Amino acid sequence: MSTNIIVIGAGVVGVCSALALQESGHQVTLVDKVEPCNGASFGNAGAVINGSCLPTSAPGIIFDVINMIGQKHSPLSIRLSYFHKIFPWLLRFALQSRSSSFNQNAVHLNALSKNAVASWKLLTDKTPLSYLFNEAGWLRVYESEKTFSTTAMLSTLLDKMGTEYEILDSDGIRDLEPNLAHSYRYGFYQKNGLNITNPKKLIEAMVNLLIQRGGQYRRFEVNEIQLDNNKISLRGFDGCINADKVVIAAGAWSRHLSKQLGDDIPLDTERGYHLMLPESSIGLLNRPVMNGEHSFVLSPMEMGLRMTAQVEFAGLKLKPNYNRIRKLLPLAKQMLPKLESKEESVWMGFRPSLPDSLPVIDFSNRSKDVLYAFGHQHLGMTLGAVTGYLVSDMLGNNSSEIDVYPYRATRFNKW
Ligand SMILES: Cc1cc2nc3c(=O)[nH]c(=O)nc-3n(C[C@H](O)[C@H](O)[C@H](O)COP(=O)(O)OP(=O)(O)OC[C@H]3O[C@@H](n4cnc5c(N)ncnc54)[C@H](O)[C@@H]3O)c2cc1C
Repeated sequence: MSTNIIVIGAGVVGVCSALALQESGHQVTLVDKVEPCNGASFGNAGAVINGSCLPTSAPGIIFDVINMIGQKHSPLSIRLSYFHKIFPWLLRFALQSRSSSFNQNAVHLNALSKNAVASWKLLTDKTPLSYLFNEAGWLRVYESEKTFSTTAMLSTLLDKMGTEYEILDSDGIRDLEPNLAHSYRYGFYQKNGLNITNPKKLIEAMVNLLIQRGGQYRRFEVNEIQLDNNKISLRGFDGCINADKVVIAAGAWSRHLSKQLGDDIPLDTERGYHLMLPESSIGLLNRPVMNGEHSFVLSPMEMGLRMTAQVEFAGLKLKPNYNRIRKLLPLAKQMLPKLESKEESVWMGFRPSLPDSLPVIDFSNRSKDVLYAFGHQHLGMTLGAVTGYLVSDMLGNNSSEIDVYPYRATRFNKW
């Protein structure tokens, strides 16, 4: 039966959900408080990698964090004025680093990500969007044996999950990426991946596709959700809109919406930064490459290389500190000697993150007509299409190959 469904949030998760629901025959309206793709989905590295399953909270993370504090190019920072707010989240995060939790979280991430590429192809293949995907995989490069040895945990996990990867020597690295500095002696290559070469263009084109196929897009900020007998009312500054069913896919801003429905989910944000390099950087790399020593990524976009980096705990309101990414520019030049190391633009975005690195994909406590789809942390581009199909199955009462129990909203209720 066709149902009138409103999806809140036109980031990658909301747009994929809207298209998948429409494919299943529903009337879909996508709403966003600003224009589509204004959140984290705008400025990421565009990597979609099959079998991405490394939870951020891993055994030894507490020592790693202590080591990172005070490092000149530390990939991590916590604003002092936000520390008291993030502290409970950090405690839960630290608990997730126990081996048992880490291994479980990895299995549940793998269940979502192992078919990421195929899901994207299914959602976009018969559309004019496929030119925005480049089948190039994902490469990590290391200068020293010591830093390369940190990939042991990843290879153990990938072996367990049966995910393919290759270890490369300097010749192997140069075959893939001839412009990289010759100092890189170790490479870790996952070839089953896509590189989205313009995330904003992709999301905007997906919204246009939704409209061409009979769906709607509306600029509307949802402030309040009310459940009446058989209808759901969404209230905002611009009035009230009604739906039979609602998907909350508002990224890092989803917490206050789910709280109104009785679900207090410990969603916070790991802020991240990007710096766009000039057009002259086009063609210098063939795929996203992560600098293993300094944890930043150089990713090829249509408009030039994009450097992405950093995890910053500072909530949704504090101003960005662009020095966090600017200070990495000399390191990018060392990595790619032909790079014209000039800043075109900088950006900061809000990764929606839960302490166990898993998203919430579940019905609200109060109503099976409201579904949550948020908290995709570092992997929203990878997991967008998979999540869209799950959302569509769940709202259509269809069974799915993926068991959604691990992504339930109540999993943090006990602690
Ligand atoms: C630097 C960086 C690099 C990254 N690189 C990668 C990568 O290579 N691969 C990968 O898989 N992931 C990557 N990610 C993660 C990925 O970008 C995110 O997980 C993903 O974009 C989250 O998508 P989303 O749709 O949940 O949220 P968002 O994209 O943030 O979208 C949420 C939308 O909801 C809207 N909204 C919020 N509140 C309301 C409201 N009340 N009413 C109406 N609308 C509302 C917002 O305006 C926004 O448009 C990266 C992230 C960062 C920051």
